[in-house]
Amino acid sequence: MNLGYSGRHVVVTGGTSGIGLAAARLLLEEGARVAICGRDPERLAAAQAALGGGEALLATKCDVLDRDAVARFAEVVATWSGGVLDLLVNNAGQGRVSTFATTTDEDWRAELDLKFFSQVLPIRAFKPMLDRSSAAAIVGVNSLLSVQPEPHMVCTSAARAGVQSLLKSLATEFAPQIRVNTILLGLVDSGQWQRRFAARADQTQDRATWYAALARTKGIPLDRLGEPDEPAKAIVFLGSPAASYITGASLEVSGGVSRFI
Ligand code: NDP
Repeated sequence: MNLGYSGRHVVVTGGTSGIGLAAARLLLEEGARVAICGRDPERLAAAQAALGGGEALLATKCDVLDRDAVARFAEVVATWSGGVLDLLVNNAGQGRVSTFATTTDEDWRAELDLKFFSQVLPIRAFKPMLDRSSAAAIVGVNSLLSVQPEPHMVCTSAARAGVQSLLKSLATEFAPQIRVNTILLGLVDSGQWQRRFAARADQTQDRATWYAALARTKGIPLDRLGEPDEPAKAIVFLGSPAASYITGASLEVSGGVSRFI
């Protein structure tokens, strides 16, 4: 199947690690021109090198929670792409592990800010460019927590439910010009889980044992964590012209861990 990316322009926020980096790699392989951003200059340079550089790749330092930085990123992308954007992948972010008892008011504000404004600011900045595309799409990287909340990630779960609602509304408001879809992640072995492994309680436990125990504890039917390129493939499909009749949809990429029909 031809996904139709040849010569199209894509932005992947948080494209320097994990799922975003895997998506950028796949999109380049599909013939797209890809702009990535992240906050850390070293990670950005490493990602640029890992993706092979070249004129099809644009790597720009940008914190998606900084309105001015996002506006500058959009200007740089507009110059590079001729003012047209075909796909915005809102991927930047991370989860917060805390219960209601351990989440302060400041934590709540920071988490709501991260989850909502990592969508709102890039969408506002790039919408004029998406409006000029003949096949515009937005893919929001969200979590299964949005529909299956966990008490140990109480504010992340609540914020993620709000993001689902926001993007569902936009699928209607932006139709028929821009398709808007989300992927709902379970556990994917990327930067977040590598950091949690590094901080494990029992430092003698090896990687394979720690990850196997995690998959068992979480009751993942496919019996392992996902690899970053597995959700990346879902992002690439949903964002492509090949998914032209799909909007307002959510695709679970979780190894079967959801417990609802
Ligand atoms: P990684 O930590 O591997 O990658 C996160 C990426 O986002 C990095 O490139 C990071 O770069 C960037 N980033 C984070 N905050 C910002 C910011 N404010 N502005 C710009 N870039 C930012 O994690 P994943 O690949 O796992 O995460 C991708 C998305 O998937 C995240 O939104 C995450 O919450 C979500 N997710 C992941 C799950 C998992 O199991 N892995 C589960 C559920 C959801 P830098 O730090 O340099 O800015």
